[in-house]
Amino acid sequence: MTHPHGVAALDDEPGSSRTAKSPQQRFRDSLLAAGLLIDTGTPGLYGRGAEFEKILIRLEDVLTRAAELSSDLTPGGLGYPIYRFGPIFPRATYEKTDYVESFPDLTGAISTFSGGDREHRALMAARTRGEQWDHFLAPGDTMLVSAACHPVYEQLPSRLPEEGAAADVSGYCFRNEPSPDPMRMRSFRMREFVRIGDPETIRAHRAAWLDRAFELLRSFGLDVERVAANDPFFGRAGKLLANGQLDADLKTEFVVPIYGDAAPATAIASANDAQDHFGQKFSISCADGSVAHTTCTAFGLERTTLALFATHGTDSGAWPSAVKEALAL
Ligand code: ATP
Ligand code: ZN
Ligand code: MG
Repeated sequence: MTHPHGVAALDDEPGSSRTAKSPQQRFRDSLLAAGLLIDTGTPGLYGRGAEFEKILIRLEDVLTRAAELSSDLTPGGLGYPIYRFGPIFPRATYEKTDYVESFPDLTGAISTFSGGDREHRALMAARTRGEQWDHFLAPGDTMLVSAACHPVYEQLPSRLPEEGAAADVSGYCFRNEPSPDPMRMRSFRMREFVRIGDPETIRAHRAAWLDRAFELLRSFGLDVERVAANDPFFGRAGKLLANGQLDADLKTEFVVPIYGDAAPATAIASANDAQDHFGQKFSISCADGSVAHTTCTAFGLERTTLALFATHGTDSGAWPSAVKEALAL
């Protein structure tokens, strides 16, 4: 209930609690009413309005500047080389990430039509009868990107130079987690600062970003905290992986209490140590031949933008001047 603009405030009439909307639904309604997000009618899928996109682009600019100021953490101090990929990437690369092993429920594949006139006629006939026609499409050689960094590991040399490698990646991610909470989308953007190298370099990189990301998000006037976290690995075996990740302190989330006490605080960014997972799967080794370790600090662009609107109100013109300054508004 700490939010000045009523996102978390329970403002329903007494006695109306049975029909009252959840804080998530109310936040969603306020974003749609303000034209910040655009409803597509499908849970977790939104268009972005002009004002929302303006703030998100400012955020990207601030992150670019933060990365420049963090070139001390990159090979030779030369900065993070920029990589940009689309929301779709090769299945062969997807396979190497092993994502389907850990998160089959979140993943998405692309199916396409490669039939001829006959198959097309059959498809159209089924469609006219109001039947399913998806089985006329077949999965091909592409998948949806689940984490912005996934396409980049394929681009790294199998033997890294002495100082390792770094990458600045940004792009759309798909995760099939439909939700009434606008903070949880199915299609969203993620900006990541990735470092690849020996375990010591990786640990130092993550430790440095834990402080830098924290300071940066604080400068936006967000009530952010750092918490140890784990990924929602699928199934019973996944519980063990999740516990292992938590125990080894490999994932830290930067969380903001979007809904006050009504829901757990939401992660707007995370700093992750993937240890030698990607190094193994993509056959990347350090100069001395040991398997490379990787880390990424990932900023959820929609989530951080939404945290700003939740915290400071849906009218960015009325945001505190310090926040406007931090975002160069
Ligand atoms: P959560 O615990 O909320 O599911 P996550 O651990 O899956 O988050 P990461 O895999 O660490 O998230 O992804 C990095 C960042 O991407 C998150 O901190 C968040 O800001 C953003 N993100 C992740 N999933 C979503 C989503 N469904 N919608 C919007 N942003 C997301
Ligand atoms: Zn990553
Ligand atoms: Mg998740």
